[in-house]
Amino acid sequence: MNNRYKILIIEDEANILRFVAALLQAEDYFVITADTAEKGLLMFTSHRPDLVVLDLGLPDHDGTLLLQDIRKTSPVPVMVLSARSEEKDKVEALDMGANDYVTKPFGSREFVARVRSILRFNRHCAEEGKLGGKFTAGEMTIDYDARKFYIQDNEIKLTQTEFNIMALLSEHFGKVLTYSAISKEIWGYFDSGSTKKLQVNMANIRKKLSLKPGENKFIFNELGVGYRMHTDV
Ligand code: CA
Repeated sequence: MNNRYKILIIEDEANILRFVAALLQAEDYFVITADTAEKGLLMFTSHRPDLVVLDLGLPDHDGTLLLQDIRKTSPVPVMVLSARSEEKDKVEALDMGANDYVTKPFGSREFVARVRSILRFNRHCAEEGKLGGKFTAGEMTIDYDARKFYIQDNEIKLTQTEFNIMALLSEHFGKVLTYSAISKEIWGYFDSGSTKKLQVNMANIRKKLSLKPGENKFIFNELGVGYRMHTDV
């Protein structure tokens, strides 16, 4: 049986498609490709890949439409490729269920590291995840029932809101949650003051976790986009 990860790349720019395919093949992933949204959906349905790398600007349909179609039937991790001009679409794609994104042009090492981490987190969540009302990842433990957060065995005293934010991020471990997605979940709405309010809470959480400025342990800040929980950078 073939247990290599199967990755579907949907990208219309031939040089980027070749570049990404070669990178992933060099890492021994099994790569399949499509250059339109329509072909991408067909390939997705027939091959059931472990990860989809999705360009947002496709010639026939917008990549976000394809993402919506995929999400109707599958929780498969999706990594979005976006050009700088598609910043708004990138946030929209994350809110629609994309797991991560890279902005073109991107470096090969960064890209491969992100793919590896998505696949690892996905397996990690399937195997560990939420067991018996608890979440564990690296040094972090969250007891959902007792509403307590621990680093190693030390309890970190969080406010209700801070706990809710950490619990939410843990439920989407490894995935970027946008400011708007977090705010809607925590406060029930997203307005002009929400991002600031979220950032203030995050700053307090970081202080309690003894993180230095710029240190991205436990929580990674995707500048201008949102936050993701992880165990390493
Ligand atoms: Ca394109």
